[in-house]
Amino acid sequence: MKNLDYNWHSTDIAEVLSIMESDPTKGLDKNHVDKRREEYGSNILTPKAGESWYMLLLKQFHQPLVYILLIATAVVGLMGEWVEMFAILGVVLVNAVIGFVQESKAQKAIESLSSVSGGQATVIRNGIRQLINAEELVPGDIVVLQSGDRVPADIRLLNVKDLQIDESALTGESLPVSKEVALLTRDTVLGDRKNMAYSSSLVTYGTATGVVVETGDRTEIGKINDLISSADVLETPLTKKISRFSHVLLWAILGLAGITVVAGLIRGQALSEVFMEAVALAVGAIPEGLPAVVTITLAIGVSRMAQRRAIIRKLPAVETLGSTTVICSDKTGTLTQNQMTVQKILVGDSIINVLGSGYGPGGRFSVNGNEVNDENIPLLKEILIGGLLNNDSKIIEKQGEWTVEGDPTEGALITSAGKLGLVQDELHKSFPRLDIIPFESEYQYMATLNEKDGTKVAYIKGSVEKLLEMSDRALNENGEEVLLDKEKVHKIAELFAAKGLRVLAFARKEFGDDKDGIEHADIKDRVMFIGLQAMIDPPRLEAIEAVRTSQNAGVVVKMITGDHLITAVAIAEKLGIVEKNGTDAINKGINGAALEKMSEDEMKKATLKYNVFARVSPAQKLELVKYLQAQGHTVAMTGDGVNDAPALRQADIGIAMGISGTDVTKETADMVLTDDNFASIEAAVEEGRGVFDNLIKFITWTLPTNLTEGGVILIASIMGIALPLMPLQLLWINMTTAVFLGATLAFEKKEPGIMDRPPLPSGMALLSKSGIKRIVIMSGLLIGAVFMVYNVILNSGHSVEVARTGAVNMIVIGEIFYLFALRSLRYSAFKLGFFSNRYLIGGVLIMIALQLGMTYLAPMNLVFATSPLGLNHWILILGIGFTLYGFIEFYKSIFRKNGQSDS
Ligand code: ADP
Ligand code: MG
Repeated sequence: MKNLDYNWHSTDIAEVLSIMESDPTKGLDKNHVDKRREEYGSNILTPKAGESWYMLLLKQFHQPLVYILLIATAVVGLMGEWVEMFAILGVVLVNAVIGFVQESKAQKAIESLSSVSGGQATVIRNGIRQLINAEELVPGDIVVLQSGDRVPADIRLLNVKDLQIDESALTGESLPVSKEVALLTRDTVLGDRKNMAYSSSLVTYGTATGVVVETGDRTEIGKINDLISSADVLETPLTKKISRFSHVLLWAILGLAGITVVAGLIRGQALSEVFMEAVALAVGAIPEGLPAVVTITLAIGVSRMAQRRAIIRKLPAVETLGSTTVICSDKTGTLTQNQMTVQKILVGDSIINVLGSGYGPGGRFSVNGNEVNDENIPLLKEILIGGLLNNDSKIIEKQGEWTVEGDPTEGALITSAGKLGLVQDELHKSFPRLDIIPFESEYQYMATLNEKDGTKVAYIKGSVEKLLEMSDRALNENGEEVLLDKEKVHKIAELFAAKGLRVLAFARKEFGDDKDGIEHADIKDRVMFIGLQAMIDPPRLEAIEAVRTSQNAGVVVKMITGDHLITAVAIAEKLGIVEKNGTDAINKGINGAALEKMSEDEMKKATLKYNVFARVSPAQKLELVKYLQAQGHTVAMTGDGVNDAPALRQADIGIAMGISGTDVTKETADMVLTDDNFASIEAAVEEGRGVFDNLIKFITWTLPTNLTEGGVILIASIMGIALPLMPLQLLWINMTTAVFLGATLAFEKKEPGIMDRPPLPSGMALLSKSGIKRIVIMSGLLIGAVFMVYNVILNSGHSVEVARTGAVNMIVIGEIFYLFALRSLRYSAFKLGFFSNRYLIGGVLIMIALQLGMTYLAPMNLVFATSPLGLNHWILILGIGFTLYGFIEFYKSIFRKNGQSDS
């Protein structure tokens, strides 16, 4: 069967199967699989070569501020100032290399992070249905598809049930296409091939089975793999603001350079001198290190979040997390443990207690302390059979521990049936399944059609409301048909729910012999009600803590669930999402049905008022996000099912579940939780705030250096005095301090009380008014200090070289003190622990060593035109430095007293 070029869509199913030597019910056997694996290789796309390294390197020069530096290089080159020329060129190169290394590292990290959806596929091999890694698929494998799956290879469909597939990745068509199995003509175009499911498209609805016909690079997506461009993942709102800021800066610097040139020429200075001033201004005022440090800070944030089980898929999320004001979380599995155990069963008039915990066997049934079984209560067996047949999950024992493979809700039903000795496999054999309507949260029920002693029976399980709607009769304890008292069933269901139990209703409907498929319409009425099984799902303990922390931090937690309102409120009370105060559940939360009836205005109010939303549909989740956003909120929203994707996309932070989530949600999400745990969302918010703080600190720290340098040159050139700082010295300051001082702020730990203050406003300007004020004040002080040191040294009879050395050291020392002051925007360095940031201490020590070298080593004196300083000079410089530091701490303490931050 090697590379025959078949048109699979126009090949008859029987022929496809015979070419593939496969069987629709048994699949391939191990021999075939191994041979094909050898022949066709793994089912993976050859990674396409990313942006070539030289393009990435070239891109580093394509930045406005680098242009200025290149112009400066040309200017000093034309003047024959070779040392300056090579120095500026060197800075440009070093900068480009740092940017290049950073960017390629970040790109790789993000690429590997974004491929979290390891890709699995359900196959039938050797007659056994199993979950394998999608890369192990071979042509001929029989694959089962279900809504939420990503199609793992090119597949000829054998069987479909309401199958709809989103093929936008392949065809660009954004609406899902429904699929059929009928044979097509040969010239049918890709978008119309309804009997095929193509690799990497997404199943949005229904189920299907099919046979794999192409894998890896031979799939349709493999053929166009090279054409797909990866999104520009390295941009965030902040980096965009910075690049806009750079453009403004470009023109400002060019303007100021123009002023120095004109001022110099009017005064009749030599052309070479004038140009040197212009170059000095440009070199000094450009914050060379800014873009690199911002990327580093964001990258550190991503890795800190990953350590706390939140994988960032889209870089902007790192920033947005810090401004989150509302977290909308699923209940089941995120706020609760997803460890379900059936505790109560209602059949006929009997409420049966189910004993035992966990998924393991063991435990029994009792009423009023007396053990019961299916002999006292025959209907008990029927409800348990319903739970076993209407079930797609499995319970497995691994090293003495019982776990669920599939849906925990269904796992609990297998366990409860086991307590009566019913075994899933045996039951499936004696009552073979003919068809299924899978569970979708929109419908709130699932149905299977089984063959039972010659007749065909549909077993249905789902929410109490839905099943009572379909039912018009019931069975009593003995399995005899009686009237259905819906009122009473509702009452008992609410009783269960008030304990926080998740309630599932069971029903059945018998059909004639000729029935072999089942539709929603078949069971919309005249259904026989059987009873209820109610299961406990305890809240996660760490979620209780995380809810409290979030609320303290001004972040509202809302529970969004498909479950019953009363169940939801009972759990929400345990979690502290709503207060436990004896009022009725109906006042603490709201049902989807009630939301449906509301006007836009009422809905707006309701989204703010309530923190528990029950029986909501995926469409309502989307509305909820929109209404909250319209009222100024920054919304994080979790989702697991395929229908949640639109809501996740709309949310500011869409969060998918790493364990239970579908591929579709993982792919639309901004963030994936590796442990499905609410506490990890709270952790990510906390880290997000830390990252943002550190970015603001760095920007507030770095800009005064440039403003000071630019200001000193501008003032000197306008006043017509010799430059207190030379271009080479300015370059030196900018490069060394950015790396050894500024960048270490990215390692600053989160500030104490970071979760005790309100969220950051979203879409905040790069710098707040008070931030700008601080930068201007600091620059003003530092400019004054530089001129003072320079003049004092010059006036005491030293050479201009010594005076300039003093000026350089003044700036660096000033920056060091400022760095300590800025470790926190709120607290003094002593409160943070003086040595708590080891990188910062190390950086400062290196910086001091470098300055001593620049001041005292002869070769460095030669290159930088510096000259050794005396002890009294150092005393002067350090004295001024301390004064500046004291001033800033005083400034911070005023803000602290006023209870504001100064960011
Ligand atoms: P959530 O995940 O928020 O708890 P779901 O949408 O999963 O909500 O469930 C909503 C309701 O649908 C449940 O209260 C239950 O009655 C019913 N249900 C949940 N899972 C299943 C299932 N596997 N089969 C049938 N019904 C289910
Ligand atoms: Mg669910």
